[in-house]
Amino acid sequence: MFEEFEKAKKIIEKSNSIYMVAHINPDGDAIGSTCALYFALKSIGKDAHVICPSYSEVFTFLPGLKEAVSKVEKDEIDLLICLDASDNGRLAISEEDYKKAKKVIMLDHHQKSHPYGDVQYINDELSSACEIVYHFIKYLKIPFDQKSASLLYTGMMTDTGSFNYSNTSSNTHRAVAELLDVGIDSVAICKQLNDTIKEAKLKLIAKTIENMEVFYDGKMRYSYIDYETIKALGIHDEDAEGMTNYLRMVEGTEVAAYVRGKSDGTLKVSMRSGGNVDISKIAIEFGGGGHPRAAGYTMREDIEVEKKKLVDIVGVMLGDGTQN
Ligand code: AMP
Ligand code: MN
Ligand code: MN
Repeated sequence: MFEEFEKAKKIIEKSNSIYMVAHINPDGDAIGSTCALYFALKSIGKDAHVICPSYSEVFTFLPGLKEAVSKVEKDEIDLLICLDASDNGRLAISEEDYKKAKKVIMLDHHQKSHPYGDVQYINDELSSACEIVYHFIKYLKIPFDQKSASLLYTGMMTDTGSFNYSNTSSNTHRAVAELLDVGIDSVAICKQLNDTIKEAKLKLIAKTIENMEVFYDGKMRYSYIDYETIKALGIHDEDAEGMTNYLRMVEGTEVAAYVRGKSDGTLKVSMRSGGNVDISKIAIEFGGGGHPRAAGYTMREDIEVEKKKLVDIVGVMLGDGTQN
């Protein structure tokens, strides 16, 4: 850790204009890690910015997003820090803007990372990019404030499924304890992100269940929602997330897949594993990526063709080729 952190620190010391960016379709960890580092670097006088062109409205209460920009406004910048993105193709930045950075630092916690940039720190033993940034901010000897601590808490809480998943370690809890000591309102963050939904989302949950298909004696659950349905409910792309968990929760489910049509015409697959199947292998097979228990990819062909391919490969992974 320290070798890369030291290299990153040296680059930061020499940089003034610094942009933070995470993956497209940002989750709590992507937003938390970029915005927390933004506040930390701003506090030591850097010309810091977060690039976040679009995000779910559930995150609007978090500090930092109001100041976020959608692209690099300059011809050249000193440094781009990329967080929570295992390959640079998934970054929420254009190739043109990416090339404007004199230096690139990558901080990530995905198992299958395709390293990029001048400094690469990848640690899949940490729960989240926020847990990396927590250590990095401490390494830089920058104190946490309400904003950075709230953001780091958000990413650790969301990426661990409220500290339910196996990526939660005693170190995660120790880090969280320190963030709570800063005096953050963790109750409000959890209420907003885990316990508050719009009525349209409730209807989307109903649709997801209505469309659910069951394979392999309940070991696989699949649901597809087309973009027209999502649009008719008045839900934006980024807010149509999170349905896979309901499928995964059903007892006996080993692989859950939720496919949604996006406004750009592509199909986004969101998978969760409730058993021993390493679904990151499936996602990688289809050109995506992720973690053993949370992974995804983009379907580009006809939905029925794509569905069959997915059901078949899950069948192979389950060691059971027969469909219900
Ligand atoms: P999601 O279901 O969107 O929450 O995604 C779960 C995880 O899968 C994410 O944390 C990413 O690591 C990964 N993932 C999702 N979609 C893709 C994709 N198109 N390419 C690579 N990784 C993905
Ligand atoms: Mn993420
Ligand atoms: Mn993450």
